[in-house]
Amino acid sequence: MSNRLAIATVSKVLNFSCVDGPGNRLVIFLQGCNFQCKNCHNPHTIGICDNCGDCVKHCPTGALSMAEDGKGKAQVRWNAEACTHCDTCLAVCPRQSNPKTRQYSIDEMLAMVRKNSLFISGVTVTGGEATLQLNFIIQLFTAIKSAADLKHLSCMIDSNGSLSETGWQKVLPVLDGAMIDLKAWQQETHLWLTGREHHRVFQSIRLLRQHQKLHEVRLLYIPTVTDFQTEVDDVSRYLSALPEETRIRLNAFQHHGVTGEALDWPTCRREELEAFAAQLEQRGVRHIVLPTVVVGN
Ligand code: SF4
Ligand code: SF4
Repeated sequence: MSNRLAIATVSKVLNFSCVDGPGNRLVIFLQGCNFQCKNCHNPHTIGICDNCGDCVKHCPTGALSMAEDGKGKAQVRWNAEACTHCDTCLAVCPRQSNPKTRQYSIDEMLAMVRKNSLFISGVTVTGGEATLQLNFIIQLFTAIKSAADLKHLSCMIDSNGSLSETGWQKVLPVLDGAMIDLKAWQQETHLWLTGREHHRVFQSIRLLRQHQKLHEVRLLYIPTVTDFQTEVDDVSRYLSALPEETRIRLNAFQHHGVTGEALDWPTCRREELEAFAAQLEQRGVRHIVLPTVVVGN
């Protein structure tokens, strides 16, 4: 069994979610991402804080301060009780980061999972890009699966699919399933939208399906921006060849949380998402899941 020395930088923990994998789930949002999606609705989860202190003077309630970390280095401190969640610190941070992250040891996270274990069916690790903190995930999932009172919980990863095959091979023994974002069909669209090529995404999907661990593939529909509709024949051929149990989740682009040029892009209405789902279904794609609520509709 792995030791339990890993520490994770966590931006948020949700005690209950029913949209991040099967059943009710405890969801751990890890800080840091290796994509730069123009449409990111949580851009402050992308960067890692370097304790520059720029945000401290902007906090209207004095919830932020600088303190010594015990090794002679200055570190930003967040006082949760004084925070009004105005998000000014997120807006001024030059590194797309967040002074409100917390470090969790495996034992601290296990205690949180244990506290909720009677009410959840599993744990999902997401981000940012969760797999950038792979050691923590492996140690956490190993500990859950080794504990008599927790081993009934399923362990899932929500990912942009950029992890290498070697990385997936390390986590597969303790992984029950993964949800992978396919952000665009054509290489140049993916590169323009995310700043990264997408061959790893297709590799990840292939590897996970080989191991029966591909729970869901997610497509974000941005009218006139993503290329899923113009490439609907090829996209359908690809999705319809996935295992029957893999869910195809369609999400509708909205402006909530996004910044920059993406604010000028059209949002996706429910009728547009339903029309796209119908096009996929006509071409043989099964198991399509739509959001219950599309904001603004
Ligand atoms: S959150 Fe951003 S602005 Fe604040 S200390 Fe960290 S890097 Fe600097
Ligand atoms: S979100 Fe909280 S910590 Fe950040 S600026 Fe507002 S009050 Fe201060």
